[in-house]
Amino acid sequence: LVALAGVNKHFGALHVLQDIDLTIKRGEVVVVIGPSGSGKSTLCRTINRLETIDSGSITIDGKPLPQEGRELARLRADVGMVFQSFNLFAHKTVLENVTLGQLKVRKADKRAAEQKARALLDRVGVGTQADKYPAQLSGGQQQRVAIARALAMDPKVMLFDEPTSALDPEMINEVLEVMQQLARDGMTMVVVTHEMGFARSAANRVVFMADGRIVEEAEPTQFFNNPRSDRAKDFLSKIL
Ligand code: ATP
Ligand code: MG
Repeated sequence: LVALAGVNKHFGALHVLQDIDLTIKRGEVVVVIGPSGSGKSTLCRTINRLETIDSGSITIDGKPLPQEGRELARLRADVGMVFQSFNLFAHKTVLENVTLGQLKVRKADKRAAEQKARALLDRVGVGTQADKYPAQLSGGQQQRVAIARALAMDPKVMLFDEPTSALDPEMINEVLEVMQQLARDGMTMVVVTHEMGFARSAANRVVFMADGRIVEEAEPTQFFNNPRSDRAKDFLSKIL
C-alpha cells in the first residue's frame, strides 16, 4: 500500500532520513519507535507530503505522491494524520471539524457528511459532544475528535505521531483503545508512540529508528524480547 524506497531527507547539514526503505501492507499496523530526534515525525510527514524528500521514492498504491493542487489535497485525505497536539479548528464545532474535509475535499453532501460525522463521533465515544467547541473538551476527547475527523475522509492509511504524548495519564487509555479498535477493524496504521503496551498488543511490526536510519524491524515479541542491535537494546533498557 505504502512503499518508501531509498528515501533521503536533509534539513541543512542534518541528514534526517537516511536511505529509508519501508513498505506497509494493507491492514498492517506498524509502530515506529526510537530516540528523540531520530526522524520519526519527519518520516510520517513525508508520507503525506508535509515534508518533501531529497531522493528516493514514496508510492501509495504504486503511484508516486502528487506534488500539488487538488491531487495533494486528496492525498492528505487518503493519508489521515493525527498529531500530538490535537490540531482541531478552534472556531468550529466538533461536528464542523469532522464534516469540513468531507465537504471540501470529498465534495460530500452536507446531510450525508453530518450523518457520517455523528456516526464516527459515536464510534470514538464523543457522540454527545458534537455541538461543543474543541476548547470545551478534554484532551482525550479532542484527540478522539481528531481521529474521527481523519476517519471521515475514508483514509487508506492513518498516521499517528505520538497521539497520546500531550495527554494526562488518565486520558491516554481512552485514545489507545480507539486506536486498538481501529487496528482490529483492519485499518492500515503507522503509529509513532512511546506506549510499549500498545506496540506489543497492536503492532504487526515494530520499526526502530535511530539517527535517521531504520536500525531494526521485527515483530513486537521478537523486538521486545530479543532486540538484535545494541542501539535498540540500549533504548529499551532506558524506557522499559
Ligand atoms: P521526537 O521523538 O523528539 O519527536 P523525532 O524522532 O520525531 O523526535 P524529528 O522531529 O523527525 O524527530 O526530527 C529529526 C531531526 O530533524 C531533529 O534533529 C530535528 O531537530 C530536526 N528537524 C525536524 N524538523 C525540522 C525542520 N523543519 N527544520 C530543521 N530541522 C528539523
Ligand atoms: Mg516526533
